[in-house]
Amino acid sequence: MAKVIDSKIPAGPVPEKWKEYKAHQRLVNPKNKLKLDVIVVGTGLAGASAAASLGEMGFNVINLCIQDSPRRAHSIAAQGGINAAKCYQNDGDSVYRLFYDTVKGGDYRAREANVYRLAEVSNNIIDQCVAQGVPFAREYGGMLANRSFGGAQVSRTFYAKGQTGQQLLLGAYSSLSCQVQAGKVKLYTRYEMEDVVIVDGRARGIIAKNLVTGRLERFSANAVVIATGGYGNTYFLSTNAMGCNCTAAVQCYRKGAYFANPSYVQIHPTCIPVHGDKQSKLTLMSESLRNDGRIWVPKKIEDAKALQAGTKQGWEIPEEDRDYYLERRYPAFGNLVPRDVASRAAKERCDKGFGVNNTGLAVFLDFSESINRLGIDIIMQRYGNLFEMYEEITDVFPGDVANEINGVKYYKPMMIYPAIHYTMGGIWVDYELQTSIPGLFAIGECNFSDHGANRLGASALMQGLADGYFVLPYTIQNYLADQAVWPKVSTDLPEFAEAEKKVDAELDRLLNIKGKRSVDSIHKELGHIMWEYVGMGRTAEGLKTGLKKMHELEKEFDTNLFVPGTKEGLNIELDKAIHLRDFFTMGQLVAFDALSRNESCGGHFREEYQTEEGEAKRDDENYFYVGCWEYKGKGNEPELIKEPLEYEAIKVQTRNYKN
Ligand SMILES: Cc1cc2nc3c(=O)[nH]c(=O)nc-3n(C[C@H](O)[C@H](O)[C@H](O)COP(=O)(O)OP(=O)(O)OC[C@H]3O[C@@H](n4cnc5c(N)ncnc54)[C@H](O)[C@@H]3O)c2cc1C
Repeated sequence: MAKVIDSKIPAGPVPEKWKEYKAHQRLVNPKNKLKLDVIVVGTGLAGASAAASLGEMGFNVINLCIQDSPRRAHSIAAQGGINAAKCYQNDGDSVYRLFYDTVKGGDYRAREANVYRLAEVSNNIIDQCVAQGVPFAREYGGMLANRSFGGAQVSRTFYAKGQTGQQLLLGAYSSLSCQVQAGKVKLYTRYEMEDVVIVDGRARGIIAKNLVTGRLERFSANAVVIATGGYGNTYFLSTNAMGCNCTAAVQCYRKGAYFANPSYVQIHPTCIPVHGDKQSKLTLMSESLRNDGRIWVPKKIEDAKALQAGTKQGWEIPEEDRDYYLERRYPAFGNLVPRDVASRAAKERCDKGFGVNNTGLAVFLDFSESINRLGIDIIMQRYGNLFEMYEEITDVFPGDVANEINGVKYYKPMMIYPAIHYTMGGIWVDYELQTSIPGLFAIGECNFSDHGANRLGASALMQGLADGYFVLPYTIQNYLADQAVWPKVSTDLPEFAEAEKKVDAELDRLLNIKGKRSVDSIHKELGHIMWEYVGMGRTAEGLKTGLKKMHELEKEFDTNLFVPGTKEGLNIELDKAIHLRDFFTMGQLVAFDALSRNESCGGHFREEYQTEEGEAKRDDENYFYVGCWEYKGKGNEPELIKEPLEYEAIKVQTRNYKN
């Protein structure tokens, strides 16, 4: 019999589901909270907000992260902003509209009820962060300012220059520090979760490695929450921080947690193009730049060839010879189409030979029109740090005048190209954010939840903080309400000893391979396979080839890896080797899912399934479900379990950004 997934979605139409849920929700008696321990793994926006909130509610929280401070979690990288349906611009925004845009942006592959709840709590997040002192940009009159992000025709993105993630994280960190000071949160920095411990079918603790001493330590609790971020670094080159890894999530998957929609990977259209083969990191130029920057390539192939040869510069090409291809193809949304659409359109132009740099893999993002209209000061107020970051990396300042043609000033444009950025797939969770393992919860980017097949800009911070501040702290209580009567689990149980022994044996195995190749050299090769065969354009044949190549490379990893040093003390290469072991599992999972989904939707583009105009062609009859994968052991194909999607409030249709 096929397995059934209980997603615990309450009955009734959206938005009554959420109200219904709240009405019947069990809350833990305040006295019992003092007896209950919760492990929160991760201190990004999702983890820090959850740990702070749970601590404030009275639970005892153990909070771990791999960095030396929660403030250095990957979330600080977030640049452009965070969405909320405040409608401060009086432009017709509403909770319903944010809900609708998010579901449509995700190409109708998200769970409707979850997204409605997300839209509803979005406004609370802004209030919470303002109360913490987050310095959001303001209008001259003092109101919070907004800008627009892709996939929306209203201005609902709140921002703090191009450093929104950092400012939000400082807000969450101050709340977290308050709970640390109050003794409700015990913080463990430079600790990495290596395994989840299951006792009698429930998550009861974790095994973590002290990254400084190298020692393995056991932690027990009444529930475990993972908030460990996404798996974008499987592709080696991505906009994610170097430390981002999927070890915790993959370990949970190996222990029985379903992994949902792994093939939904976001490729962001506006990143600084790859240059050379020595790079280990790609840099995002925030989507907010598309508010005022216009994306173009030359109309004439001879101009493109001259740009590629370096005999012409972008600012020498006059207005009438420029092809603003997004404005041409999608008049209603123009440069603000969703990321998957913009990325594919850039690839299409470059594949046709219109790329603008020496590799032919770049398009222009040009501020000439907006600087001429608004003046450089306003543009610098909005994007100053992004312009400076671009200059630091490329030695080109996009605010410099470069040419004047027919009285029109032309500024030096940025060059951009799509790159791996975000992962919509993740650990499967039900409506309460509980995984398929009782007592194990997943929040933030590491769960699959709200973005369907494509995330809209400024929605990750919204989801991470919604999960951490307003959803998990309540839904987890349904589970914890029963836990107060259970005796506390000891870390001396055989389940803990067994898990620790296995982790230790893995460390020995990796150290004892004593081959010839560094972790990075193998990881880079894996990244090439992923980009080539499991990247922006996928085909059944390519995915099969990719899987075969990954399999062979994994054998190379298992037999020819070289990890210097020992397991005692700090050993960064050993930690990276563990991450790479798990990127292999992840890469194969992405390919399996992509191969099983014979349709194109959002970030998952199968070249066999496209319209005549090159748009993604969904197959709702056969693929209107969340694809959940169950681990079946190394080298074996995982098993697909489907959670059918049910839409009540929104009519499922083909996405249209043209009119
Ligand atoms: C360059 C860039 C710009 C972005 N800009 C925006 C934006 O403007 N708006 C927006 O909405 N989104 C943006 N995003 C996406 C957004 O930043 C992330 O999706 C979000 O911050 C993820 O938060 P998180 O808390 O889920 O995970 P993370 O911030 O990745 O935090 C993960 C945490 O888990 C810990 N951890 C990981 N593994 C382990 C382990 N095994 N053991 C212990 N701890 C572990 C880490 O130490 C860290 O504390 C951007 C992303 C990038 C890369």
